[in-house]
Amino acid sequence: MSEKYVSPVLEEIRRHTLKEDLIIAHDYAQQYIDAVDDMPVFPKNESLNALSIFDVPLADEPVAPKEILDELHRYGSPATVAQTGGRYFGFVCGGILPSSLASKWLTDSWDQNPAMYVMSPIASKIESVTERWLVDLLNFPEETVAGFVSGSSTATIIGLTTGRNYLLKNLGYDSMTNGLNAAPTLKVIIGEGAHSTVYKALSIIGLGSGNVTIIPADEQGRMCLEALPEIDDHTLLVLQAGHVNSGAFDELETIIPLAKEKGAYVHVDGAFGLFAASNDKFSSLTKGLELADSWSVDGHKTLNSPYDCGIILCRHEEMLIHSMHMTGSYIILSENRDNMLYTAEMSRRARAIDLWATLKGLGKNGVRELVWELHCKASYFAEQLAQHGFEVLNDVAFNQVMTRLETDEKTDALISALQQSGVCWVGGAKWKGQAVVRISVSSYKTTYEDIDLSVEDFIRQRDLIE
Ligand SMILES: *Cc1c(COP(=O)(O)O)cnc(C)c1O
Repeated sequence: MSEKYVSPVLEEIRRHTLKEDLIIAHDYAQQYIDAVDDMPVFPKNESLNALSIFDVPLADEPVAPKEILDELHRYGSPATVAQTGGRYFGFVCGGILPSSLASKWLTDSWDQNPAMYVMSPIASKIESVTERWLVDLLNFPEETVAGFVSGSSTATIIGLTTGRNYLLKNLGYDSMTNGLNAAPTLKVIIGEGAHSTVYKALSIIGLGSGNVTIIPADEQGRMCLEALPEIDDHTLLVLQAGHVNSGAFDELETIIPLAKEKGAYVHVDGAFGLFAASNDKFSSLTKGLELADSWSVDGHKTLNSPYDCGIILCRHEEMLIHSMHMTGSYIILSENRDNMLYTAEMSRRARAIDLWATLKGLGKNGVRELVWELHCKASYFAEQLAQHGFEVLNDVAFNQVMTRLETDEKTDALISALQQSGVCWVGGAKWKGQAVVRISVSSYKTTYEDIDLSVEDFIRQRDLIE
C-alpha cells in the first residue's frame, strides 16, 4: 500500500488565495512605475549595499507571498536600473509598452507551455498570427517563418545552424546525421564590426569562431565592399542591420543579391535594426534586406516589448524545422502550428503573446513611428552634443550615437562620472582603437527633455574633468 501522504506545508500553500497578493503586487508595481522617472538611473550605493539582505541560506520553512513581495519591493525595486524610465541609454535595451506589460500580467497566470498545439492551442494560434504580422510589417517574402526564442544570441545560433545545414545539403552532405567531421569545408564571411554573439554562434555550431574571413570595416563600421573575397556555394555570409556601436547597416542592397547569385547563404543580424524595415523612411538602409535567407531580431530592444523576446526569421521553413527537429514517442504533432519545431527549446515561456500584444498595441503605424522617433531623438542627442563642443563620431543612421573626449582617460572618466551621477546611463566601447561613450536611444519613453537633461549632465561632468 502506498502512503496517501499529504504534506502540511503544501496544504497550507494550496489553501492560500492569491487575491490579496496580486493586489499587493499591483500596488507595488504601480508605485514603481510612478517613481521610475525620478529614480537615479543607476542605483545609489546605499541601495546596492542593502542588497546584502538577500545573502541568507534557503530557510527550511516556506515564506508567504506577501512577505516575498515586501522584500522584493523594499530592497529590489530601489536596486533596479531604471531602464523603463526615459534616460537609460546603455547597451540597446528599450522599455516596456503598456499593452505588453498589461497582457503579460494576465498571461503569466496562464503559464502556458507553447511547445505543441496540444499543450497550448492559444500559444499556437498567437505564434502563427504574430509570424504573419512580422512578415507583413517587415515586407519579407511570404514563405518566411518565425521561431520565438530568448534573444538574438539564440536566434543567430538557429539561423547559422540552418544556413550551415542548408549549404551542406546543397553540397550533397547530410550534416544533421553525419556531423561535421567529414563535411565539405564552408567559408564563413563576417564583417569586422560583427557582434560578438555571431562569433559565439559560430563556435557553438562547430564552424569555429576563428575559422572566418573577417572583412575590414569602413569609417561607420560597415563591411568594405572592395574587400569581399570570392563568394560561392560554400559561403555562409553574415551581415548586419544595425552595428551595435554606430547603428550602421551593411550595404545590403549591393551585397545580398551578389551573394545569393553565387549560391551563398546570407544571415542578417538585425537585433535592434531590423524594425527599420517597417518604415520606408529607412529604405536606403534596408533595401535588399528581404533577399537574405534568415534574420535575427529582438522584440525587447527597439520594439519595446518585455524580455525576453527574440525572433529567428527564415525563408527556408523545411530546413529550419529539419535543423531544430526532435522527436519522442510522447510527442504529439498536429495539423496546427507546433511551436517547438521552429526553435531549439521545447518547453519555454509563451513569449510570442507579449510580442503579439506589443504589435497590436502599436499597430503598423505605431511601429513605424516608434523607429522613426528613436532615430530623430538620437539625431537630436547628437546635435545637442555637437553644439556643446562634443565630437560626434558616427553618422546617426539609426538610433546609436558615439562621442568621446580628447583622450581615452578623459573619456573613461566621463563615462563613470555620468554613470555615477544618476541623471542618465550610458556605456562605453572601443571604436577604431579608442575609448568612446556609446548612447542608444531605444525607449519609447525618452523625451526631448530627457535628452536635454542628459546633455546638461554631459556638459557638467566634462567641465569637472577638464
Ligand atoms: C543585442 C544584440 C545581440 C544579442 O542579442 P540578445 O537579445 O542580447 O541575445 C546581437 N547582435 C546585436 C547587433 C545586438 O545589438
